[in-house]
Amino acid sequence: MKRACDTEVRPPGQSIANRYSGKTVVAIGAHPDDLEIGIGGTLAKLRQHGAHVVMCVASIPRDYDVRIEEARRGAEVLGCELKILMDGGPQRIEDVKTCDLVGMLDDMIREYKPAAVLTHSKADFHNDHLLIYQACLPTQRLAYFDFFSYHPTNCRPVPIAFHPTAYVDVSDTIDAKMHAITAHASQFGGRGLDTEMYREFAHVQGRMIGVPYAEGLDVQRMVLA
Ligand SMILES: [Zn+2]
Repeated sequence: MKRACDTEVRPPGQSIANRYSGKTVVAIGAHPDDLEIGIGGTLAKLRQHGAHVVMCVASIPRDYDVRIEEARRGAEVLGCELKILMDGGPQRIEDVKTCDLVGMLDDMIREYKPAAVLTHSKADFHNDHLLIYQACLPTQRLAYFDFFSYHPTNCRPVPIAFHPTAYVDVSDTIDAKMHAITAHASQFGGRGLDTEMYREFAHVQGRMIGVPYAEGLDVQRMVLA
C-alpha cells in the first residue's frame, strides 16, 4: 500500500529541462565556485537536456591564475560555457561603480538573450553576492526572461533564512555537482574544508519534493506564456 508521501503529484511536463531545452540560460555568480555550490546540479541538468548554459563569474578577487583554472574545470565538468565578467586580472566587485556593473550585466543580457537568469539571493549575507543580486535586478527591464535566485553560498555552514519557492530535481546530476565543487581545490581541500555538506543539503532539499536530491530556487519572475 502506498503511503501519502509516496504519491506522485508532479506533472511530468513541468520539468525545467523541457522549459529551457534549445534556449540559453545565464547563471551569474560573484566568484568562482558560487554557481557550482548554488546550482551546479541544475546547470548540469539544463545542459544535458539541450540548453545552452552560460556560467558567468563576475570577478576573481585574488589568486587569479589558480582560480580561473578551477573555474574552467568546474564549467567543463558541468558542460557549460564560462564567461568571466571582469577578466584580465584580480578585481573586487565593490571597487566597481554600480552603474558600470549594471552596464556589464546589461551587455551580457543583450548578447545572450537568455530565457532564464539565475543569480544570488537577497537572503545572502556576503556583500559581493548582494551587489551582484542588486545589479541583476535592473537587467529585467531589457527583456522578459525568467529570473531566479539560488540558495546563499558559503564555504562553511551558516544558518540563513532562505525559503525556496521552486525546486529542481538534481538526482541525476548530484555527482556532477559534487565533482564540479571539488574542482575548486584552493577553496576546499586546500583550506581543510570538506564539501560533503553540499550533498547533504541537496538531500534535505530533495526530501521536500520526494526525490533523492534537489536544489531550491526563489522565483523572482516567471513568464508564463
Ligand atoms: Zn562568492
